[in-house]
Amino acid sequence: MFDSLTSRLSSALSTLRSRGRIKVSDLDEIVAEIRTALIDSDVALEVANNFSETIKERSLAALEQVNKSINPSQGIFEIVNSELIQILGGQTRRIRMAKRAPTVIMLTGLQGAGKTSLAGKLALYLKNQGNTPLLVASDLQRPNAVNQLQQVGASVGIPVFAPEPGNGIGDPVKVAKAGKKFAEDKLHNFVIIDTAGRLGVDEELMKQAAQIRDAVAPDEILFVVDAMVGQDAVRTAEAFLNGVGFDGVVLTKLDGDARGGAALSIVSRTGRPIMFAATGEKPTDFDLFHPDRMASRILGLGDVATLAEQAKAAIDPDLSKKFEEKFASGDDFTLIDFLSQLQAIKKMGSMSKMLGMLPGMNSGAMKKQLDSLDDNELVRNEAIIQSMTPAERGDVKILNGSRRVRIAKGSGRPVSEINNLVDRFTAAQKMMRQMRNGGGMPSMPGMPALPAMTRINKTTTSQPPKKKSRSGNPAKRAQDQI
Ligand code: GDP
Repeated sequence: MFDSLTSRLSSALSTLRSRGRIKVSDLDEIVAEIRTALIDSDVALEVANNFSETIKERSLAALEQVNKSINPSQGIFEIVNSELIQILGGQTRRIRMAKRAPTVIMLTGLQGAGKTSLAGKLALYLKNQGNTPLLVASDLQRPNAVNQLQQVGASVGIPVFAPEPGNGIGDPVKVAKAGKKFAEDKLHNFVIIDTAGRLGVDEELMKQAAQIRDAVAPDEILFVVDAMVGQDAVRTAEAFLNGVGFDGVVLTKLDGDARGGAALSIVSRTGRPIMFAATGEKPTDFDLFHPDRMASRILGLGDVATLAEQAKAAIDPDLSKKFEEKFASGDDFTLIDFLSQLQAIKKMGSMSKMLGMLPGMNSGAMKKQLDSLDDNELVRNEAIIQSMTPAERGDVKILNGSRRVRIAKGSGRPVSEINNLVDRFTAAQKMMRQMRNGGGMPSMPGMPALPAMTRINKTTTSQPPKKKSRSGNPAKRAQDQI
């Protein structure tokens, strides 16, 4: 997400950091670099020009003050950050609830933008907040759209109102109206209406969307747009704004190598906020759009706030409490605890996406290492631990060579992986003991062993300790037996 923009902006700002006192010529240089980086990322020319002009004006006005501070580049950095937040919409915009339920949300956008998938993601998001959404299949045009929405609904446990088979049959306006009525009768507090898109903007499409709008009086019309299409996204948004009107934007496919232009141009060009962002094909790859968090990501500062929220949502509070009590009572950290931590992390989603939210992780060398991170490693580690006996999980010291060979066979993994896991677990256990003895607390409650569970770069992985004596190392003995 915004990879090249992030690396260009971070490198421009770090050049400034190395300068100490900032001269007007330094400012000219950085503003020019920011402008080119934006244009290369597909940001509309006019938006890039206005943005860089504002940065320049504000920086010049603040230059004297900034140069009096210990870290002058920080002052400029803050100006860039605050302007980036503004260009992304300023504040987080949440869904407006109807005074009387149900709140009706209508989705519009081109075919392929990701509307149907988005309907499922949004419904799940609302359900997880204690709501009772209903999906309504008013895309009766695209082949298989009704069926797809039914599958999406089933996968996230949300009912779908689909009285017509679609594929060109049925009246989408009637379906939308009946869907709203059905939700009122069955006390659903949200209705999400999936409407038909077209391959390009056309009058027929706009007319139909406007009729649905007039029939159901939506509380929110969301324009769904594929962030990967760059400048075209802005043009399509403008056409929908004139043709149907919308209240907010949903950017999809932000996980792709989107150059970021859409996100940065769309708010200025349409005057509508980005409300949600989808970052993958899974129903959970979706979140509220926070302009400040996105600005932070774009500037290479990561998104620690979202990471913390995800951790909180994924970690079972009972498990976390149990772990803390165990930790406080002096019990040792065992592979069983390690396994529960692995499972909690798995619930949080892709490891590379998660670590990508940490500051500095999404640029340059770190980015390459992140890309090489293997999400399946968690699954393999889980398989290995599950192939152990309870006694082995309780005390890895009993894992001699023949036990390791048996575990390797049971989990279908090579002995070298068993050895690696034991090594990393032992390191985590040691870290836990040090923390208990006053060496610091885990960075996230209930997730102490994170650094030990994953290898960012396989080449730096510690190998099993080499011992001279052949008989002293079960890891090596086990490896020799293969
Ligand atoms: P619709 O025609 O607007 O209803 O679009 P769909 O919901 O059918 O989505 C079109 C394609 O984009 C499907 O293959 C989706 O799986 C995919 N898709 C949707 N959202 C995302 C996203 O955020 N990331 C990625 N990588 N793919 C997405």
